[in-house]
Amino acid sequence: MTASSVPQPTPSIRNCYQLPEEEMKKLKKLAQATDPKWWDDGKKAVDPSNVNNWAAILKAYNYHCIYCKQDLTTTLDQVVGSTIDHVLPSWVLEGRANANRRPNLFPCCSVCNALKGPWVPELPTDPADPNSPWNNRKVYIRQAREHIAAVRTVRQADYGKFVGLGVKTLKIWNDPDLD
Ligand SMILES: [Zn+2]
Repeated sequence: MTASSVPQPTPSIRNCYQLPEEEMKKLKKLAQATDPKWWDDGKKAVDPSNVNNWAAILKAYNYHCIYCKQDLTTTLDQVVGSTIDHVLPSWVLEGRANANRRPNLFPCCSVCNALKGPWVPELPTDPADPNSPWNNRKVYIRQAREHIAAVRTVRQADYGKFVGLGVKTLKIWNDPDLD
């Protein structure tokens, strides 16, 4: 393969890790100022690395990834590779509160968790908007699903150039049973 024929990556979509440090600081400050309420049920935070808590969280959502709805129990490797996602990333809550509140914890396959990364939704123009993801957990998760599907598509297109695979469109679920 000559240099000119090497496939080039598609311009990346918004990823907080790729933002300049100053912009990241600004985003963090703004995100903390929005102070979403839905992640904190007032109960004691749990440690998701404790296997009993981990199992309870998986069981509460019938052992499916909250984002792609994949059954996490199909193989033992899937069980081992399953993760608990902080829907609101801990970097937003750093130094302010414990992110390990139950409304903020969901079972997640390792692929979705890696693709979601440190993503957060756009900050609202109206902080009081009830349909803003910062005020509505279902909207937040819906947007996270769309983000993950978009990153997956970009990665598939980029990596598919190297291995000759097509892009498989991911169904975006819109029926979260979150309570
Ligand atoms: Zn998934």
